[in-house]
Amino acid sequence: MLLNRLSLLFIAFFITLSLNAQQRKEIQIPDILGYKTLKCDFHIHTVFSDGLVWPTVRVQEAWLEGLDAIAITDHIEYHPHSSDITADHNRSYEIAEPAADRSGIILVRGAEITRSMPPGHLNVLFIKNANLLEREDVIDALKEARDQGAFIFWNHPGWKKQQPDSTLWWKEHTYLLKNNLLHGIEIYNSEEFYPEALTWANEKNLTILGNSDIHAPIQIKYDLNDTHRPITLVFAKEKNKSSLKEALFDRRTAVYVENTLYGKADFLEPLFFASIHINTSPVQLKNQGVASILITNTSDLDFELELVQPAVGFGCPETIFLEAHHSTLVELTGNSEEVGQMKTLKMYYSVKNLFTAPDENLIVTLDINNL
Ligand code: ZN
Repeated sequence: MLLNRLSLLFIAFFITLSLNAQQRKEIQIPDILGYKTLKCDFHIHTVFSDGLVWPTVRVQEAWLEGLDAIAITDHIEYHPHSSDITADHNRSYEIAEPAADRSGIILVRGAEITRSMPPGHLNVLFIKNANLLEREDVIDALKEARDQGAFIFWNHPGWKKQQPDSTLWWKEHTYLLKNNLLHGIEIYNSEEFYPEALTWANEKNLTILGNSDIHAPIQIKYDLNDTHRPITLVFAKEKNKSSLKEALFDRRTAVYVENTLYGKADFLEPLFFASIHINTSPVQLKNQGVASILITNTSDLDFELELVQPAVGFGCPETIFLEAHHSTLVELTGNSEEVGQMKTLKMYYSVKNLFTAPDENLIVTLDINNL
């Protein structure tokens, strides 16, 4: 009896030891337009293709980094560990799924269809059975994915190994687009940016994505105290799989890399204004007078503003740096008699780290109450 009690104590002690409380980073990028801003990575590998990490660890990594959703997208056609790991194409998802459910990470069933150019590598998300994608003809594989309801996107379109001289859109991609076999494109993969892909996405109405394509443990590649993996921001009605899918097909995304965002002005502008707060009491600027406005940035992004045209009736800074999680005091000077009668002071800035096209920054208007 005593022995039993002792052994129970012993077991309890070890259970306590093996549990720990982990800390998740919370990415501060606001919700906009009534949508939830989900932080996602839709291109991830495990040991079940050419990755170096077990599937459940991918879920833990995503949780620690503050992500909401991931897709494990092991290659269908490339299995360098196959002499040690023999399993079917659904196995990495099945192993990761209970861990995802426990931690509240949305886990999307995906795969990477891995072919030479054209059409190159394509990820298929929200599939039902990855084993059926093992097809001789790439079009058959993509049609199978489409028939399973997949969202399909072109991975690393400018990857030098497949497009050594210039990043080209092939006639095969036009075929895919016309046959509902292509819905999105990576404008960012790992550390590579493909400006052509952003232009094509704008022209051809494709969803933009930025993903890690991580093979190694995430912390080997990114110092998470300092930076983060490339992230696809998805503006979804709810935080669940069906809303995520609906938003991807509806092209409600932006791409978040280091301190930069890429996306449509329709999303970047509300994101900028939801990130900052400008004090609203009238500044009562007069000719020869000075006024200060306080701008508070509650997001994780530093915003770098550059004046695009001189303000009418008053002076304002050429550049403003709105540091993440800081307040910035901005000085205005009255330089006309009219300023004393102006209800609103308007300032036009280009946000240098928010891009709507490869060479186009988001332009914002800051309205300051004067009277
Ligand atoms: Zn990949």
